[in-house]
Amino acid sequence: MSKPIVRFAPSPTGRIHIGNARQALMNALFARREKGVFVLRFDDTDLERSKREYADSIEVDLAWLGIPPDVVVRQSERVEFYDEAADRLRAVGRLYPCYETSEELEFRRKRQLARGLPPVYDRAALKLTEEERAKLEAEGRRPHWRFRLDHRTVAWTDLVRGDCHVDCGSLSDPVLVREDGTYLYTLPSIVDDVDLKISHVIRGEDHVTNTAVQIQIFEALGAHLPLFGHINLLTTASGEGLSKRLGHLSLTSLREAGLEPQAVASLAVLVGTAESVRPVADLDELASLIDFAHISRAPAKFDEHELDQLNARLIHEMPYEAARSRLAALDSDGGEAFWLAVRGNLTRVADAVHWWAVVRGPVTPVIEDKAFIEAAAKVLPDAPWDSATWKTWTEAVKAATGVKGKALFMPLRLALTGLDHGPELAALLPLIGPDRVKARLSGQAA
Ligand code: GLU
Repeated sequence: MSKPIVRFAPSPTGRIHIGNARQALMNALFARREKGVFVLRFDDTDLERSKREYADSIEVDLAWLGIPPDVVVRQSERVEFYDEAADRLRAVGRLYPCYETSEELEFRRKRQLARGLPPVYDRAALKLTEEERAKLEAEGRRPHWRFRLDHRTVAWTDLVRGDCHVDCGSLSDPVLVREDGTYLYTLPSIVDDVDLKISHVIRGEDHVTNTAVQIQIFEALGAHLPLFGHINLLTTASGEGLSKRLGHLSLTSLREAGLEPQAVASLAVLVGTAESVRPVADLDELASLIDFAHISRAPAKFDEHELDQLNARLIHEMPYEAARSRLAALDSDGGEAFWLAVRGNLTRVADAVHWWAVVRGPVTPVIEDKAFIEAAAKVLPDAPWDSATWKTWTEAVKAATGVKGKALFMPLRLALTGLDHGPELAALLPLIGPDRVKARLSGQAA
């Protein structure tokens, strides 16, 4: 295979969500694995709804996921190419002007439905004479432009879905150019795919019908066809579609909630495929797991709870070096011993702040049996302390008091940390250190 060129083509009309991230990752990681090119294309021909701030936030999100694009293009800067393609389609009679208002179209649609007919555009505009057209123009009507479909079945071999057929005889001729001369998504997408030599169009399965229409337009422009792959969509756990407009699970919000990008990427890529969903910290490894032919056809459910679990599993394995600067930014870099002591108790890196506060104090000790704690304090080993100190100490406490098991550990934990749960005390004890331990055992907040 020659090197693939792929694209992720969001319209910057909102913040992207995890379903969009799935499309982006499938493209970017495939390109990464095959040493190809990953293009970020902003479908921003809708000037009213597209916003630069959304485009910028999408770039930030992709960089956070670890998949910055190799090339960025904006459709708003490429209109001359779309004009040129539209002219070529007009010249060969495939793009024709239509003058119906949306009310007229709606009226016809309702009438067709009432008669039990499919609500397909009836091509009335194709029958207009020159004079009728001139008259409409003289009345001040501006045309929108439709692509004249061939009424035939379009077939392709989809990378995900295998053999696909769409009967274009049952589709309305698509509007490519609006009344005001601006373009809908369909034509610019093809022009850019041709110009940028996109080899694989990998996108959501909501585009299957579009693909049939677009294949006809590629052919009408005499262009070489890319390969197509339509990936199942993600839904919420209750089965609703994700929506950019509703701000569903935006990547920005997941990032701000302190989730690891690898947790988000692992879930976004692996859910609804033949692979089990598991945390994969390395993007090359995640890329090696992508297999378009084994993506499920059913929509994949995205469960936020699963994301937390993946995040926790990643953190439980995270080396100190990876956590260090983030701990420092949280003012909680307690060194490698601290990180290794607490990471197993964290769901998010920021939770470490809590345990650093327990180590550094002040902690208000919880002491129920004062005599027992005093007895324990008397047999504290001498400094220096290390990871074996806890065992030495608790054996001495057991020998001195006859108390063992939970009855021994829990009062010590409560006295040292003020809590009834937490990381291994063997690891915490040397971090808390003799001075604070002595103070806490004597009932002082330290
Ligand atoms: N802007 C389109 C979308 O977000 C792109 C579809 C495509 O990849 O061609 O649905």
